[in-house]
Amino acid sequence: MSNKRIDNLQDLQYFGEYGGVNPSISNSSTYTFLSAKTMFDTFEGNTEGCYLYSRHSSPSNLYLGEALAALEGTETANVYASGMGAITAVILQICNSGDHIVSSRTIYGGTYAFMKNFLKKFNISISFVDITTIETVKKAITPQTKMVYCESVSNPLLEVADITDLAQITKKNNIPLVVDNTFSPLSIAPVKLGADIVIHSLTKFINGTSDAVAGAVCSTIDFCLSLKDVNNGAGMLLGSTLDSHISASILKNMRTLHIRMKQHSHNAMYLADKFEAEGFKIAYPGLRSHPGHKTMEKQMVSEYGYGGLLTMNVGSLENANAFMELMQKEKLGYLAVSLGFYKTLFSAPGASTSSEIPMDEQLEMGLSEGLIRFSIGLDNDIQRTYEMMKGCIEKLGITGEKSILV
Ligand code: PLP
Repeated sequence: MSNKRIDNLQDLQYFGEYGGVNPSISNSSTYTFLSAKTMFDTFEGNTEGCYLYSRHSSPSNLYLGEALAALEGTETANVYASGMGAITAVILQICNSGDHIVSSRTIYGGTYAFMKNFLKKFNISISFVDITTIETVKKAITPQTKMVYCESVSNPLLEVADITDLAQITKKNNIPLVVDNTFSPLSIAPVKLGADIVIHSLTKFINGTSDAVAGAVCSTIDFCLSLKDVNNGAGMLLGSTLDSHISASILKNMRTLHIRMKQHSHNAMYLADKFEAEGFKIAYPGLRSHPGHKTMEKQMVSEYGYGGLLTMNVGSLENANAFMELMQKEKLGYLAVSLGFYKTLFSAPGASTSSEIPMDEQLEMGLSEGLIRFSIGLDNDIQRTYEMMKGCIEKLGITGEKSILV
């Protein structure tokens, strides 16, 4: 697969005021019109070249949107105040009362909770399915189904969705395939594989500095404009607008995304290989033992690797907590949720980011309490990191064989 998307992103060149090499930050919530008619036309949806109010759009948000559209190969993109702001806007834009969604059962806990609990208020029903079994997805679609939703690489189990196969089904049923690509920017390009709408939590790899919360929707001009519609747009009316200062900051960080993704992937692959060889139960799409390995190989852009996330099962929550606390003490990373930081972040998802999912459902989907999710950092000497991690494991008496039994 070609590298064109990153070239397109690199070629997006904006001059700031006074010839600055970064675009100027729009420092206004509202904008003047030279004629009252233009203001009226803008309200009517004819927004070409005009800014109305920064909840609708701002120059800084449009710059970041263009960069994200280049990244995903879509016509355009809107940015939001969080990944959840983007997800909720897309769902509420597409679905009406009485509609139905087919969703992967292994998705970020917040998305799961929104679908399962919050959408009841709107009489929107969900079927949570194993997205890797195409027959199950097919069977779950009803005449009321308005979208199929999945994560390209899922949080936290790292299931890999076969986007090409899923897109065939959604196209046949004339419904959109919505893919959250937060875990695999650059390495997977869902729209190129047939998806219709791509969502990102920019909070993670794309920003990469764990200092901001933001989200994005990458899709067609029509869909992105519908989200901004002053009368009916879920983005516009629910108000999850990204602040221009944050937008400008994320755009600058995005300039190094390709270098960071390669290093995250390189480091994660190294650790996954080493710990698997020691008998630990590791889930990483780069390992042949991973159920989604072949699907990943089929659809990835190989130079960006298999991503920065891996999970390790250490047998019990007690083991997981002791290991994470010791790693933090040894400066190997932070016991923290989120991902995509320069430093390794680790958490036990069953007790944190996926705690919205009831325990019986966690177990059914294979999320056991001894599972640690790692977002592997940009460490320069990953062999040293491995040896230090191994030192922590040995100190605590956790063994690979023991973890496999659980
Ligand atoms: N999608 C995925 C895959 C995530 O992991 C998260 C957050 O962890 C979100 C969406 C939500 O993003 P945000 O926290 O920016 O609202």
